[in-house]
Amino acid sequence: MTIDPLPQVDLSAANTLAVPSTAAWCAELTDPRDLPALVRWASARGMAIRALGGGSNLVLNEQVSGLTVKVAIRGKTRVETESDRQRWRLGAGESWHQTVVDLVAQGGSGIENLALIPGTVGAAPVQNIGAYGVELADCLYRVEAYDILEERWRYFTREACQFGYRDSVFKQLENRFIITAVELELSRTFVPKLSYGPLQALATKPDLNAQDVMEAVIAIRQSRLPDPNHLPNAGSFFKNPVISFEQYEALLVQHDDLVVYEQPEGWKLAAGWLIDQCGLRGRHNDDGVGCYERQALVLVNPNRAAASSILDWQAHVQDAVFERFQVLLEPEPRFWT
Ligand code: FAD
Ligand code: NAP
Repeated sequence: MTIDPLPQVDLSAANTLAVPSTAAWCAELTDPRDLPALVRWASARGMAIRALGGGSNLVLNEQVSGLTVKVAIRGKTRVETESDRQRWRLGAGESWHQTVVDLVAQGGSGIENLALIPGTVGAAPVQNIGAYGVELADCLYRVEAYDILEERWRYFTREACQFGYRDSVFKQLENRFIITAVELELSRTFVPKLSYGPLQALATKPDLNAQDVMEAVIAIRQSRLPDPNHLPNAGSFFKNPVISFEQYEALLVQHDDLVVYEQPEGWKLAAGWLIDQCGLRGRHNDDGVGCYERQALVLVNPNRAAASSILDWQAHVQDAVFERFQVLLEPEPRFWT
């Protein structure tokens, strides 16, 4: 093994919520060939092993147990080009947003709506990242991962990833796989996806291309979402609940202004709207942890409070929404102890 895990590594700057946190053990992985030895190192000591990307979808406890593997594998290679398709192999440690920028500049389309999502390429399949009506599943070709349980390399086709709404096999079997590379398949023919309100205005733009959509997405996001470098946050803190038609009809009796989107699996409620209705937008606890004033779904942590304060506010929001709507909000970020 060419890398030695280090004890007591500070992760405070490695998570976008900026919670103070220390990893019992941490190793930075730049070469996937080191992974089997790292996994053996951890299992010989009875330690759990977990992959850390950009820390933008995590709530870290003050002490994080086991071995944290900071995935820093680089690489961006065009592996195949057919007349209308581009296939790219990307190291799991690449920045997701920079990848979108680079591939759109290379004439690829299909991922432009996913610009400015923080984090790494390797984490993107975990929750099947999505924004503005597009999700990773739409352009994913294959995932390469190391199976910690079976100690072998695995390749997942799009079907094998079992993608769902902010969900995948990597999330279902949490911490079993460390993703080392992702292959994307992009189209050369631009098909705009402009169904989300703020993008609809682009439909009339002459000669619209993927670059235009990407730039619009970046501008909209910058105007609505807090930059974690200035205001610590983990993006949307709760998933949008998907409820049954019966539940929807029952809710409609009391709340005739309910915002709802029909999905194949049920009726999706906008979690941000539910929180807003409870009067929690812009409100916070004594540590400053609260709901962002421009988007209630984003939990912000301006004073770098500890995980316990984040969890207190999470429970406060869940209780308020449940009391008013009888819907339990499920947190989106993963919680590490
Ligand atoms: P981390 O936070 O480091 O990890 C998240 C999970 O993925 C953990 O369970 C971790 O173990 C696992 N993981 C990370 N890397 C690997 C790997 N190589 N192999 C296996 N497992 C791994 N998400 C969206 O879907 N859509 C959005 O529009 C969006 N907008 C956001 C906006 C802001 C301002 C912020 C702060 C977050 C937003 N997010 C969004 C959430 C987050 O950016 C994404 O989920 C992102 O993919 C997380 O990447 P990461 O590298 O930071 O992962
Ligand atoms: P928005 O556009 O104000 O929309 C509010 C909610 O309504 C979103 O959650 C979205 O669901 C849903 N919605 C809006 N228009 C829709 C349509 N035409 N069809 C189906 N659902 C629709 O949301 P926003 O907060 O500004 O975020 C914009 C996009 O970026 C959203 O897709 C959001 O998911 C994504 N985003 C995600 C995170 C994260 O951390 N996960 C953080 C910031 C932004 P969906 O969320 O299912 O799209």
